[in-house]
Amino acid sequence: MNYKIALVKGDGIGPEIVDSAVRVLEVIGEKYGHSFEFNEYLAGGAAIDACGDPLPEESVKGCLASDSVLFGAVGGPKWDGLSGDARPEKGLLRLRQALELFTNLRPAKLYGGLKDDSPPRADIVAKGSDIMILRELTGGIYFGERGYREGKYGKEAYDTEAYSVMEIERIAHVAYQTAMKRGKNLISVDKANVLETSRLWREVVHRIGEQYPEVTCKDMLVDNAAMQLVRNPGQFDVVVTSNMFGDILSDEASQITGSIGMLASASLGNTKRGLYEPIHGSAPDIAGTGKANPIATILSAAMMLRYSFDLTEEADAIEEAVNKVLDAGYRTADIAGGAEGALSCTEMTDTIISYL
Ligand code: NAD
Repeated sequence: MNYKIALVKGDGIGPEIVDSAVRVLEVIGEKYGHSFEFNEYLAGGAAIDACGDPLPEESVKGCLASDSVLFGAVGGPKWDGLSGDARPEKGLLRLRQALELFTNLRPAKLYGGLKDDSPPRADIVAKGSDIMILRELTGGIYFGERGYREGKYGKEAYDTEAYSVMEIERIAHVAYQTAMKRGKNLISVDKANVLETSRLWREVVHRIGEQYPEVTCKDMLVDNAAMQLVRNPGQFDVVVTSNMFGDILSDEASQITGSIGMLASASLGNTKRGLYEPIHGSAPDIAGTGKANPIATILSAAMMLRYSFDLTEEADAIEEAVNKVLDAGYRTADIAGGAEGALSCTEMTDTIISYL
């Protein structure tokens, strides 16, 4: 098959880590008989420097005309003085909007080789942890009505949580479909003992579940979920939750994995086209030094194969290669224990490719 991939490298370590992922995809293409066509588009600081806009129209058109988008990271001190809509980060937010992406998938997988680097107790992480958190991305309290008003005790601020049936239905479908591709266990996190939006969330998630009889769906209150993630992360397979709960829980879960340089993400909408990116930023402090860990971006490319192109075997091959490399003790400098004899970005990429 032929796939057209838009590359948005961005700033800082963005170009280094995206180049690493492209090298891995090229090897996968050769091995499994696929052809990947890569086209580069500007966003972030690089786009501001080139044409004064963090997301030029040409980049939007190019990404919309592609089968998927692989994104590095944007931002850096050079553009810190800019405000609001002129900032590099606005380019990413506008791109997510233009592609109508409403679900953020964040896997938090603890690779066997990194068990000693994970904060929970050894006996807890010994059982392993491989969680996929789906966070609703465009609704809820982050987008609801807000402001200041005169309240009972004088001036007060308020934010509003609102979810429509449609918004819950569409993320519920993605959650069940994701669970079907994994362990068929879904946990829906809410605060239905207090919040009306959560009661609607719960009702809709279960109604949609009738279309996916193979998936077991359980509800969990968010306060309990926060506790269970630390107490027994191994019990979670797929988690679906609202924007704010997902924001908080996915950061908590990410800590189980050992390093920010390991964490991939996907943002999906109603079509197969997604935006795949590491969860970290442009790491300007190490840009150009060769110290960037390319694993998060390589794993993001694996997610693209799995979720946008349905290339499960190829995605498994990349994840397995990363697993073996870490098991064999190879480290970049950001991973604990990696300071001595750490591999550079290019060396880590070469090593992963050698295990493919
Ligand atoms: P950051 O994630 O870029 O870096 C935090 C720390 O983690 C740094 O010490 C960095 O060196 C390290 N780090 C991050 N990724 C790494 C990797 N792959 N390998 C090795 N070490 C890595 O966060 P920050 O320093 O707060 O932000 C830097 C810039 O990135 C800012 O301009 C910020 O706005 C931007 N940012 C962009 C995105 C995005 O594009 N999605 C996300 C977060 C931050």
